[in-house]
Amino acid sequence: MQIIPFPNGIYGATTYLVYDEKSLDAILIDCTSSINEISKKIKENNLNLKYVLITHGHFDHVYCLNELKEKFQNALVFMNKEDMPLLNQVNTQCTMAEVEQINIPCIDGLLDENTKNLNLGEIPIKIITTKGHSKGGVCYLIENDLFSGDTLFYESIGRCDLFGGSISEIERSIKEKLFALSDEITVYPGHGPKTTIGHEKIYNPYFGSNYKGY
Ligand SMILES: [Zn+2]
Repeated sequence: MQIIPFPNGIYGATTYLVYDEKSLDAILIDCTSSINEISKKIKENNLNLKYVLITHGHFDHVYCLNELKEKFQNALVFMNKEDMPLLNQVNTQCTMAEVEQINIPCIDGLLDENTKNLNLGEIPIKIITTKGHSKGGVCYLIENDLFSGDTLFYESIGRCDLFGGSISEIERSIKEKLFALSDEITVYPGHGPKTTIGHEKIYNPYFGSNYKGY
């Protein structure tokens, strides 16, 4: 499996192109970076873009979806239902962030932890719902790589003061669900550098000193 980050999205958000070398199936995690750059990588590697998996409904994670869908009409976009109200307010978010408004992106399907048969080639994609940064935040675990959206960052966590965020919920999501994963899992956040579960258990200031062995 290969992972190509595009870290220059709107508000510094990262889009990840993830693909399986065997089947050449590809997915995007979020969609916020230059579609030309992403499209170039897809063509260079002869990939078949199957899905766009959205981590949550904030504008900076879906900003380029409309443009992507024009180029890749067969790619299906999935998101957690709990964040649909947030997505429907994308232009309120854009106004607050002082960026140009967009058409509300179209979502092809909804997912949650009960969603089955989401695969990259033959590799299963596990959905972990992690509310706290938003109500419908989702992390995607593919083999030993976790795409954590704005839930868990390198030595930080997502903000909880907007649109239904909750500090107690994000702490619970991270402690009970993400810290239950193996220490070796690499974490690819929606902003900033990658990290590992093991590193965050020790060095994340929100948990480090309070960490009691989840
Ligand atoms: Zn966010």
